Amino acid sequence: MTEPLVIIEDLVMQFPVRGGVLQREVATVNAVAGVDLTINRGETVGLVGESGCGKTTLGRMLVRLLEPTSGKIIFAGTDITHLKGRELKPFRRRAQIVFQDPYSSLDPRAQVGNSISEGLRLHGVNDADERRQRVIEMLELVGLEGSHASRYPHEFSGGQRQRIGLARALILKPDFIVADEPVSALDVSVQAQVLNLLKELQSELELTLLFVAHNLAVVEHVSDKVAVMYLGQIVEITKRENLYSDPLHPYTEALLSAIPIPDPDRPRHRTILQGEVPSPINPPSGCYFHPRCPIAQTGICDTERPELLPAEHDESHLAACHLRTGRHRNLDPRNFAPIEPATED
Ligand code: SF4
Repeated sequence: MTEPLVIIEDLVMQFPVRGGVLQREVATVNAVAGVDLTINRGETVGLVGESGCGKTTLGRMLVRLLEPTSGKIIFAGTDITHLKGRELKPFRRRAQIVFQDPYSSLDPRAQVGNSISEGLRLHGVNDADERRQRVIEMLELVGLEGSHASRYPHEFSGGQRQRIGLARALILKPDFIVADEPVSALDVSVQAQVLNLLKELQSELELTLLFVAHNLAVVEHVSDKVAVMYLGQIVEITKRENLYSDPLHPYTEALLSAIPIPDPDRPRHRTILQGEVPSPINPPSGCYFHPRCPIAQTGICDTERPELLPAEHDESHLAACHLRTGRHRNLDPRNFAPIEPATED
């Protein structure tokens, strides 16, 4: 359980913004801005943050659908950061992705059996009977019937389509799966079924999972460890139970306070973040969260970028906040002035 399967070091992904008649590069989107993360074998890591924070881009780099601008991805001891073509093929077999949208991720003109077995064909399973048999096994494993292989995607509900997406990801018996918001397009009742299925499959097949979501309530159910992302950076990472009982970063506190409590008598303190997520083309100085942070201080938060550092009481609980884990954690408030959070017009 403690052997690392995926290690990423200072991973960066930048996209050029082009403009003008000559389509010259006029700016750069810093989608992922220096992320370090280790995912151990058999572990599920939840990756959470608002839309546009870079979590999907990070997930896609980990299965090498995108090539990072810089940094390193080590998978099972091999550096796969810049592998191409044939060199990448063994890795493709071991790392798969489940996409967010169960409608657009399946070819509407292909029978689902063919969509699921395509990976087998590409990886040299040439015997049609063997492919058919494995498709039937996979469909049954994800709670569908073998006879569904001859149907088309439009004949299935959203939840069933996401099961088909899972079967397609699992057919090559991968070690590692990136599940990119796999339940966000589904009804709440169906979300629970798909989450339970993922959990069962994860322990049955000993999968290592990166579960991407924008909602902390969803990842709580499936994760061993949770990482919170803001504007391309991980701002807090720890074991699931620590994050929910003792969050350190003000952004994590705000996300947690947005989870509904199904008990009207229980008091709650809702932190409503002011302003918009800043543009990744021109991120703020210092701590990227400072224009929205309710406890930001001038002279620190707006000038120095906080590092991801361990909490005083727990080495495995890391957060990037000057006031909670950084060198100003024993700040004397008389020396600094609070920053007024940005307000909406
Ligand atoms: Fe808020 Fe400052 Fe901590 Fe950033 S470093 S989260 S702005 S208190």
